[in-house]
Amino acid sequence: DDAGVPGRVRVAVRLRPRSAEEMMADADFADCVELQPELKRLKLRRNNWDSDTYEFDEVLTEFASQKRVYEVVAKPVVESVLDGYNGTIMAYGQTGTGKTYTLGCLGEEDTAARGIMVRAMEDILADVSLETDSVCVSYLQLYMESIQDLLDPSNDNISIVEDPKTGDVSLPGANIVEIRNQQSFVELLCLGEAHRFAANTKLNAESSRSHAILMVHVERSVKGKHSALSGENGNNAHIKTLKPAIIRKGKLVVVDLAGSERIDKSGSEGHTLEEAKSINLSLSALGKCINALAENSVHVPIRDSKLTRLLRDSFGGTARTSLVVTIGPSPRHRGETASTIMFGQRAM
Ligand code: ADP
Ligand code: MG
Repeated sequence: DDAGVPGRVRVAVRLRPRSAEEMMADADFADCVELQPELKRLKLRRNNWDSDTYEFDEVLTEFASQKRVYEVVAKPVVESVLDGYNGTIMAYGQTGTGKTYTLGCLGEEDTAARGIMVRAMEDILADVSLETDSVCVSYLQLYMESIQDLLDPSNDNISIVEDPKTGDVSLPGANIVEIRNQQSFVELLCLGEAHRFAANTKLNAESSRSHAILMVHVERSVKGKHSALSGENGNNAHIKTLKPAIIRKGKLVVVDLAGSERIDKSGSEGHTLEEAKSINLSLSALGKCINALAENSVHVPIRDSKLTRLLRDSFGGTARTSLVVTIGPSPRHRGETASTIMFGQRAM
């Protein structure tokens, strides 16, 4: 098992349970997929007799709990961020298949329903020491190649700055808020969600047509390592005091991607067409980068979209990346489900 191996994308598929509507409307029809979680296999029905079989790193059925999904999809990435590496967790799939439930569910009424963002912050806050370490977050929306700050609605055109030497990505215009407890983090996510709704109303957009991006910066001063290093370097006790504290920095990026469904471009014009093109551009750029990683290609076309530029330092290299592709059971959406499964397959 290569959980958390850097430079390779770990791919899980998650099936949403049938909704009440689907249970009524599709009562006479079988789900379009059949899952074999212990074999890490998924069968996509072609018709009543035939199906195609696909393998994933992890196959999560409609019965998989949010806790289990967190452990499988996110925990190895969160742990490596705490160790000072960058990491990315993404959800890809058709609108309505459970991307936001998987990543962003706050679970305020039902704590068992808490999603990856909330659970990740819990693990991070439990591991750091608030006297010596810091945990800071930014929350953004990427819509039609423009970045909006979900923590400050007046900040609606944030630029990406890349350090040419290190490749580090920063967003100098974005708000960064220090998090000291879980409650303030949940409040911040709620505020971001409200701002997202308001911004999209103004832009005449739906949230399913934009990417939501949470960035968590973890900075820790490593005391144990510090004194060990001074010891190695010699016996001059005074050198130890001259040495700056060693800072270990990790960044976790969680991306709730725009809905992957095909938008009928033939009938669209103006705004809708531009929107469709832009979603297409960013998701296909992301797909190409993921494929390049999977194939160990030297050329990862990271510059092709803002989405991939934003992920430049948290994708490939020493970073851990985890992708969850979400699908629904309905035989009506078999085509979209097939294309989501193929996106996940190409990443492996
Ligand atoms: P998306 O973000 O992909 O558009 P959502 O996360 O909004 O989809 O999910 C659509 C609906 O299905 C929501 O009402 C959500 O609560 C529900 N849902 C999704 N996944 C699950 C799940 N695994 N278990 C229970 N309900 C789910
Ligand atoms: Mg959503």
